[in-house]
Amino acid sequence: MSFDSLGLMPELLRAVREEGYETPTPVQAQAIPLLLEGRDLMAGAQTGTGKTAAFTLPLLQRLAVHASASASPARHATRAVVLTPTRELAMQVEQSIRTYGRYIPLRSTAIFGGVGVNPQIALLRRGVEILVATPGRFLDLHGQGVLDLRAVEILVLDEADRMLDMGFIRDIRRILAALPPKRQNILCSATFNPDIRGLAASLLTDPVSVDVSPRNSTADRVKQVVHPVDRGRKLALLSHLIRQQNMQQVLVFTRTKHGANRLAEQLSREGILSSAIHGNKSQPQRVKALEDFKKGAITALVATDIAARGLDIDQLPHVINYELPMVAEDYVHRIGRTGRAGSEGEALSLVCVDEHKLLSQIFRLLKRELPQLPVPGFLPDPSIKAEPIAMGRSASPRPRGSRPPAGTPSPQRQPRAGSGPARTASRASS
Ligand code: AMP
Repeated sequence: MSFDSLGLMPELLRAVREEGYETPTPVQAQAIPLLLEGRDLMAGAQTGTGKTAAFTLPLLQRLAVHASASASPARHATRAVVLTPTRELAMQVEQSIRTYGRYIPLRSTAIFGGVGVNPQIALLRRGVEILVATPGRFLDLHGQGVLDLRAVEILVLDEADRMLDMGFIRDIRRILAALPPKRQNILCSATFNPDIRGLAASLLTDPVSVDVSPRNSTADRVKQVVHPVDRGRKLALLSHLIRQQNMQQVLVFTRTKHGANRLAEQLSREGILSSAIHGNKSQPQRVKALEDFKKGAITALVATDIAARGLDIDQLPHVINYELPMVAEDYVHRIGRTGRAGSEGEALSLVCVDEHKLLSQIFRLLKRELPQLPVPGFLPDPSIKAEPIAMGRSASPRPRGSRPPAGTPSPQRQPRAGSGPARTASRASS
């Protein structure tokens, strides 16, 4: 199967070729011809499957008839809206639109909260055919009368499951009500629970579905290992693993923002350059951390689940769960960061006695157990008893959609930063 057989126009095939893509991924091969026909689509696909190109390429082709070199805003009415749960994903999707659409004169922009609204308004006033947005800022600008939605003919909900998890359902419904009823609708989601199915039923007309991520399964090409360790020795084990395996780019997950900050500082003090990325960081801080990580200026990016959702980092080789998530599905999302299209990945979980219940919930979701390999020198002390995990008080998961209060302290007690050899000057996250 080649891209040439999907019915895409030469301008798009050229851009795809320049990206170095040789064959469409399964979601692309299945979805692109259907979307070109104008069908509504429900796509079961998580990040890493090539889903962004799967909806972006047909979207660009269908809008190409409206492409205009004119500078007049009237010639650039908004025709497609792509909603994403996070700012990072909005930026990444918009970048993909620019990349694939570089030979088609359509305008796009991303609007999201956390940054000044005026530059976004200025861009919108020039006219944009494709608007990528997070729901909150979209409604904010809509309320200010800045958006003209009369010509919208395509709507994409990307990572719809995450948007529902984050409590955006009402916002989504308000946005749907503001759009013209006759349009093509695309819903992408990694998981399908009854809420997503309900949304799909009310949103989609005679949809086709494409499912490339069997429910709650993790990519087979990701090697997953659990390292049992005492809660007080996680930091030492983490820096040992990063050094011993000479990891150059590792995404590390913590449960809380506070825990992410602290861990990034501790790692940096140990000579492993790190930054934290989470919802309390300003937009420029988040962008800088991600850029530093992508270009190799820092080794470890320490992230919370929400912040990491949708991060598109090519060929991420290592994901480490410093703390297991409270919700087993989040494990699957975390693991989705590695083993991207065509590359192999490794996901390690550092699990202490407090987290055994969370681990069994993950095994149940995966429908299999993962190998548990103690690391020499870090064997857990069997006399240490489990303690409740602070953010939920008990080890029972919080309900989907609810988030722990901001600033909830990390459950992990950390030893003092060790005196490991400093590789380079350290820089803590700020
Ligand atoms: P996504 O699932 O949309 O986040 O895409 C994951 C990654 O796969 C991105 O870095 C894309 O650039 C890359 N990608 C998308 N389609 C292809 C393809 N057909 N061949 C190779 N890489 C691709």
